[in-house]
Amino acid sequence: MHDDDFRARLRAFLVEHHPGRRPKDRTERLAWQKAWLAKLFDAGYAGPSWPREYGGMDLSFARQVIYQEEYAKARVPGPLGTGLGIAAPTLVKYGTAEQKERYLRPMLRGDAVWAQGYSEPDAGSDLPALRTTARREGDEYIVNGQKVWTSSGDIADVLFTLVRTGTPASRQHGISYLLVDAHAPGVTVRPLRDLTGDAHFCEIFFTDVRVPVADRVGEENGGWPLVRTSLGHERAAGAMNQAARYRRVLDELIELAHERGATADPLVRARLADFEMRVRIMRYTGMRTIADILARGEPGPASSTSRLFVVTFEQDLHEFAVDLLGPYGMLGRDDPHAVQRGRWVWGFLRTRASTIGAGTAEIQRNTIAEQLLGLPRDPAMPPSSR
Ligand SMILES: Cc1cc2nc3c(=O)[nH]c(=O)nc-3n(C[C@H](O)[C@H](O)[C@H](O)COP(=O)(O)OP(=O)(O)OC[C@H]3O[C@@H](n4cnc5c(N)ncnc54)[C@H](O)[C@@H]3O)c2cc1C
Repeated sequence: MHDDDFRARLRAFLVEHHPGRRPKDRTERLAWQKAWLAKLFDAGYAGPSWPREYGGMDLSFARQVIYQEEYAKARVPGPLGTGLGIAAPTLVKYGTAEQKERYLRPMLRGDAVWAQGYSEPDAGSDLPALRTTARREGDEYIVNGQKVWTSSGDIADVLFTLVRTGTPASRQHGISYLLVDAHAPGVTVRPLRDLTGDAHFCEIFFTDVRVPVADRVGEENGGWPLVRTSLGHERAAGAMNQAARYRRVLDELIELAHERGATADPLVRARLADFEMRVRIMRYTGMRTIADILARGEPGPASSTSRLFVVTFEQDLHEFAVDLLGPYGMLGRDDPHAVQRGRWVWGFLRTRASTIGAGTAEIQRNTIAEQLLGLPRDPAMPPSSR
């Protein structure tokens, strides 16, 4: 099939099966999104980069780009949880045959939602300081401790979790990677409300949670290389679909500027031109990330460049949008006078956190400086961190 035919078929599928407006109610919304992901999977349109044996499409470079562009244009729901872009590639590389067979398809189909349990109250940038313990008892681990900032923790079925199996001082040499059943006895999930008013992430407490040793991915105390793989994919995840999404969002912002009669202002035009250039650069950066993954099997440290570029762009874009709205830029989603149901204001508030999640901007800059530019290590950095 020619690439143009592939694009046309995918577009026709997305238009024809579009699941309609997003329900306001949380429970209905979850069911709506799960039904969509199942439909996509069953039709063979899920997992553009995934191996076919786990239900993916195993697309070539050009087709992954086409897929992301059409998906973003169609405004259909995205994946649930953080498993697809982060845990799945880690499982494909390090998981046993049994783990891959058991976990990958349900994750891709949206039947099981995955969330990432890495951060702890005193272990964010300095991830090797984590203290949640897993003590081995026969063929089970007994897990105790606390995680925080777990995105989608409240809807998760599986938590891909970092635990300390080594001595308290073992840092990255005493960490293991466990798949914890989020519904197991002893797991308590508490949603945390953020600046937007939504509860996007949670804190999670483990009290004597029993996890089968068979649910450890990789070696005991050998979790750190998996963390590197996960974090690389987390930073790269969405590089291409963000570029495709922001292409659409920028077009909508330009439309908004026209509607408000602001495009006569040369300063507004200069800002829009700057965003236009950046969204095009983002597209090429996204392509480079896909090419890297296809060539080396891993995104590598360049994923920090993609991540930093996207998050600073999205903050700048939403700040500009709120400025453009003038006094209306103060009206949130619940206000009847809010412009476009408050979406720009919501985006402004939501993207405040972008330069923190998946490693802060400072940490990304240090990674770029050391690992890509070969500059000396920041003396403030601990021996090994995010
Ligand atoms: C929206 C969002 C979603 C998230 N989702 C998840 C999730 O699903 N799962 C999960 O496990 N975690 C998640 N996190 C947590 C995220 O990974 C951490 O917040 C992040 O790593 C920063 O850690 P911290 O909050 O402990 O801040 P700290 O590490 O305490 O950092 C505080 C400040 O000090 C700076 N700093 C710290 N060390 C250095 C250094 N060595 N050099 C220079 N500057 C430094 C930081 O850049 C920052 O400005 C999420 C966070 C956000 C905001």
